[in-house]
Amino acid sequence: MQLLRRGNSGPAVAEIQAALSGLGLLHGPPPDAEYDDATERAVRLFQQRRGLSVDGIVGPETYRAIHAARFRLGDRLLSLSPSHPFVGDDVAALQDRLLELGFDAGRADGVFGARTEAALRSFQREYGLLADGSCGPSTLRALRQLGRLVVGGRPQQLRETEVLHRSGSSLAGKVVVIDPGHGGADRGATGHGLDEAAVAEDLAGRFEGRLQASGVRTLLTRGPDSCPTDADRADLANTAAADLLVSLHCDRSASAEPNGVAAYHYGTGAGTTSTVGEQLASLVQREVVARTDLLDCHVHAKTWELLRLTRMPAVRLELGHLTSPRDAARLADPAFRDVVAEALLVAVQRLYLPADLDPPTGVLRLADFAAL
Ligand SMILES: [Zn+2]
Repeated sequence: MQLLRRGNSGPAVAEIQAALSGLGLLHGPPPDAEYDDATERAVRLFQQRRGLSVDGIVGPETYRAIHAARFRLGDRLLSLSPSHPFVGDDVAALQDRLLELGFDAGRADGVFGARTEAALRSFQREYGLLADGSCGPSTLRALRQLGRLVVGGRPQQLRETEVLHRSGSSLAGKVVVIDPGHGGADRGATGHGLDEAAVAEDLAGRFEGRLQASGVRTLLTRGPDSCPTDADRADLANTAAADLLVSLHCDRSASAEPNGVAAYHYGTGAGTTSTVGEQLASLVQREVVARTDLLDCHVHAKTWELLRLTRMPAVRLELGHLTSPRDAARLADPAFRDVVAEALLVAVQRLYLPADLDPPTGVLRLADFAAL
């Protein structure tokens, strides 16, 4: 494209001026499509705000940025269009929002690519919307409503930390809700002869036994034949005034390569987070990673319903990918499940230990508990 600078005139200049007026950077309708002092000042201001080189000249980068800035979220229906992707500030705003809510849209680069679409679909699925990957009125409404729901995280964070400190380091008498994912007709992820619901149930049993041996009162969110909604599961934990909730899942992927373990806690990724939930998720993740050879896929904040609706610190573990032959082989082994159950117990114990008593990751054994 031809560079536009002071002294130029014509339709291309008029277009830039219209965009700058729309952004509130140029006041009064420019009379004659003349790249005058006021236009140059507006261009410089725009460049400064966008972190572009400030030269007052409209080159390709500034042109693209001005063009992108014309769109506000909601101005147009956004979806994946591989041959001619949507580009604009509205896309960046959508990406920001998804990231803030814990959905991995990649970087907020303002280009609606496959990753943005995948994140949007996950968001839609999590919130019970039609998961069509396009951002229309109902999705926008949900994105905005959620903004109001997650406001006010601070008092909740303080409350959680205080409850944690007040409750003492002994596990005896604490109430832990164990939530095996899926259930009944919903088997969750499947692969290599395993199904997620069954793995989660079996692991829940092993974890439950260890908790009970430590004096913890345990509750399961489901039996083998039911699949309560996330809201029902959260409700059960809230009604029981549980101290913690541990949700057990396995992941799946479209291909055999992805593998590893990840832990999730409530958080929007934008300051609103469950501090204790994050602590619990980190401990669970660290203990599992230290005691197994599963790939560390790290701890992430999510606004999934179960995490959002539970009033106590909650963690959701995605233990391996059933679609990975490597992970599936581990998960099929009862001895491996015992190791994970012990890792979970140790993580719960460590959450309540004062910092000076907290042992390093991967070393605490069940038999040590009596000494604490
Ligand atoms: Zn699952």
